[in-house]
Amino acid sequence: MSNKKIGVYICTGCGISDVMNIEVLEEAADENGAAVCHSNEAFCGKEAVEIIKKDIEEEGLNAVIIAGCSGRINYDVFDFGKEVIVERANIREHVAWVHDADDPDDDEENHTALHAADVIIMAIAKVNSMELPEPYKLEDPSKAILVVGGGLAGMTAAAEAAKAGYKTVLIEKEEKLGGWLNKVYKLTPLGEPYTELEDPDIDNRIKELEDNPNITIYTSAKINKISGAPGMFDVIIDKNGEQITERVGAVILASGAVPVEKEKLEYLNYGKYKNIITHPELEEMAKKGKIVRPSDGKEVKKVVFIQCAGSRDKEKLPYCSAACCVDTLKQVLYLKELNPDAMAYVFYKDIRASGVYEHFYKKTQETGAVFIKGEVDSMEKSGNGMLSLEFEDILMGSKSKLDDVDLIVLATGMVPTTAFGTDFKATEEAESDESEEAVPKDVILASDILNLEYRQGPELPTLKYGFPDSHFICFPYETRRTGIYAAGSVRAPMDMAKAITDATGAALKAIQCVEITAKGMACHPRSGDLSYPEINLKRCTQCKRCTEECPFGAINEDADTNPVMNPTRCRRCGTCMGACPERVISFKNYSVPIIGNMIKEIEIPEEFEEKPRILVFACENDAIPALDMTGMNRLKYNPWVRIIPLRCLGSLNLVWIADAMGRGYDGVLLMGCKHGEDYQCHFIKGSELAEIRLSKVSETLDRLGLESERVKAIEVNIMDYMEIPKILDEFAEELEELGPNPMKDFA
Ligand code: SF4
Ligand code: SF4
Repeated sequence: MSNKKIGVYICTGCGISDVMNIEVLEEAADENGAAVCHSNEAFCGKEAVEIIKKDIEEEGLNAVIIAGCSGRINYDVFDFGKEVIVERANIREHVAWVHDADDPDDDEENHTALHAADVIIMAIAKVNSMELPEPYKLEDPSKAILVVGGGLAGMTAAAEAAKAGYKTVLIEKEEKLGGWLNKVYKLTPLGEPYTELEDPDIDNRIKELEDNPNITIYTSAKINKISGAPGMFDVIIDKNGEQITERVGAVILASGAVPVEKEKLEYLNYGKYKNIITHPELEEMAKKGKIVRPSDGKEVKKVVFIQCAGSRDKEKLPYCSAACCVDTLKQVLYLKELNPDAMAYVFYKDIRASGVYEHFYKKTQETGAVFIKGEVDSMEKSGNGMLSLEFEDILMGSKSKLDDVDLIVLATGMVPTTAFGTDFKATEEAESDESEEAVPKDVILASDILNLEYRQGPELPTLKYGFPDSHFICFPYETRRTGIYAAGSVRAPMDMAKAITDATGAALKAIQCVEITAKGMACHPRSGDLSYPEINLKRCTQCKRCTEECPFGAINEDADTNPVMNPTRCRRCGTCMGACPERVISFKNYSVPIIGNMIKEIEIPEEFEEKPRILVFACENDAIPALDMTGMNRLKYNPWVRIIPLRCLGSLNLVWIADAMGRGYDGVLLMGCKHGEDYQCHFIKGSELAEIRLSKVSETLDRLGLESERVKAIEVNIMDYMEIPKILDEFAEELEELGPNPMKDFA
């Protein structure tokens, strides 16, 4: 017996009542136990909201279902306080706007109304099976922030967090703060008019931090261990052999990047000729006040800069380092300042001086520097320490030669400190060794920076080239360890201006994390979610699937190999719930029975009625917004579909497919985010895991004599909304060809 007293509020405006008979919806609400049911042109209007509030008070409602627009809008309007469950039944974008109008004179032609009624019935089933989540609150959460790395990004992050009033601990392995700032002569422009070089101003930057009472600085220090979770990380710092413990709520990794390994530049004769140097070596020279030939100390007259040295090359450094172009522009200006008579030649693939740096590029061009789009084919010594080059000028379409070059400067790319010295080929080979059905493993490189005490490994999981990240499009700072944020060039290759913005962004994220964790809410992407997974240990078989499949390292094991949940590390994706074969993991408002009841509660028409049913499990992150956009664009699709939003396809439990097929659905479609190298999955590998699980269900379906084609997984991103009608209609056609689900008769 449900303890819910539910009010159902049906919007008839926004074109909803134009395409369906609202009475069908009201009847469905009544028959399924709604205590109150009202219709109104727009429940988002002030007066209509008052009707709901009055009902809550007078009728004692503890749950409200708004049947109208998508739950992605008006959530602030439909907030009736902590004690009232609010569920949104999307009959606008997912029904009224995507189906043709029913024939008002024909009761049998009511596909659209039936669809909307089913959405309401599923919402009632969900509300009846769920409970209000209670926040998981730490006893004494820490709001301090640890910043690892005292370079430009780290110093900026520490300064920003401290300015916002947060205690900050800054750790630097060198004796002095500053990182690369200590090694460069000047900085590229950081502000308007974006044409002037800037002084590193290192002493003032350090002083600002030292003078801030909110900041504790440890130099010549490293981290021995970080244990715990957001709101309660315990950090053991080693400073000159002394062990110091700090408790913090969040961590910012700003350990920076280092120049690409020198061996990767040998193909450009680096190491063979003394007068071929790298960007950092030119900085060192400029700091001394003169740019000279290393071979004999003579002043240079002709200097060649070679861009993308080793970069954007599959065999060496496959990506663009994003800062080397502007660094070369800067060094051309050094040359003009320190050796005014010298000529500069820049060989480039593309000059990537994006955004405001276009001004800087123009300024450098005005110095008379020659920019040549082309590849250097060969280099050799031509006597007197000079070098000569043969090159292809792509824009002129010709081969040319440049003689009497004094100095060649290689624009060296950067490698994140998390990955320096990693043999990516070996990593890739190891990854490809995994059998197809295995859980995709995280790549954790042995970088000895954070030394996390996580069952899953001591450092951050990384993307392909060793950058720690969790979603490069939607959540740039969030790593795959909740409460640990990456900023600056360790996160992605970037110039100094970008590193400052990046560090500020990460500081804000860390602040959000400590605040939201203290309230017992999820950080991101389900910001504010109060639910968290609970494990019924009595029925747990200690199979470890939840521990292994959790993308965020939120589940540890105790000495008896029981799973131990770390709720503040958890992102509430439900992947563990989907993984658990015993179905003993659940959230108060999201569980295997809740979704199972939504599946089972709606009526499936008999075979002879020729009204097939397709169940769509759609991920809330991209698929649901895409479906919403399909509706907003009034693109029509088949009215046989019934959509159940999932937190992530990773939370898909195979029993739901069995439930759906047993109930008589003709087909099941899983709509998840794109995975693989350019993944979109907001929970890293949820859609991939769902596909792996699905490969197992196909065998079971075959064994039951049900065609495996009845269950299908597809990947969509939000921009695929135009494709959705085609995807759904084609699946409906395929199912029509297969004929009705033979299990219908047994349902
Ligand atoms: S809900 Fe997601 S993040 Fe939380 S423990 Fe389960 S798998 Fe991990
Ligand atoms: S997946 Fe389920 S049964 Fe396996 S260890 Fe986790 S909770 Fe226990």
